[in-house]
Amino acid sequence: MKVKDNLAAIKQKIEQAAARAGRKAEDVTIVAVTKYVSTDRAKEAVEAGIGHLGENRVEGIIEKHEAIGSRAKWHFIGSLQTRKVKSMIEYADYIHSLDRESLAKEINQRAAKPVQCFVQVNVSGEESKHGMVPGEVIPFIQSLHRYENVQIGGLMTMAPLTDDRDVLRACFRQLASLRDEVQALNLPFAPCSELSMGMSNDYDIAIEEGATMIRIGTALVGE
Ligand SMILES: *Cc1c(COP(=O)(O)O)cnc(C)c1O
Repeated sequence: MKVKDNLAAIKQKIEQAAARAGRKAEDVTIVAVTKYVSTDRAKEAVEAGIGHLGENRVEGIIEKHEAIGSRAKWHFIGSLQTRKVKSMIEYADYIHSLDRESLAKEINQRAAKPVQCFVQVNVSGEESKHGMVPGEVIPFIQSLHRYENVQIGGLMTMAPLTDDRDVLRACFRQLASLRDEVQALNLPFAPCSELSMGMSNDYDIAIEEGATMIRIGTALVGE
């Protein structure tokens, strides 16, 4: 399938989900997750109109960035080892996987300018998932005031692997409510306006629950 055709189908589903929630489709940004595919396929996505690309490995973001550069905004969506921050920081416009203070400290030190970071939250509590438990998120964000290059642009979660739509919905709803709590703190470095949630199988539910960034791999660019 051409990316263009997949994108048309996804956009239609976004429209419908947004309409059901009384939201505007324009308020949902598609991040094309290209971790499974070639640089050429990532280029095809950009040519189809995608403006945001997501990679979960440092090598992947560097390789694709070299070929595509600033034609897209770059999202690092994978778990990030502290020692790898230095080599990737100049390529990432957004980091979706901030989950500990040592990582914030390293980003702050290595970045030449403020970086949009999302705090990754393990809403479902699954052992295998990265991210902070919800109860730690507020104190964690409050502790980041000293890191001037770390901007908290939003929260991110990965839903559990299930087809149970009620479970998925509850997970997204919980992240949205946590986002509201962070916003109510009115911290200048943490506007926290974005909700990065929803992937190929569940982005419609995520949009109904307020997602502003959906991360789509398989359904858009293939496996
Ligand atoms: C791989 C990945 C995605 C995309 O998954 P699909 O199910 O292929 O859409 C989204 N977010 C993260 C963090 C990922 O690692």
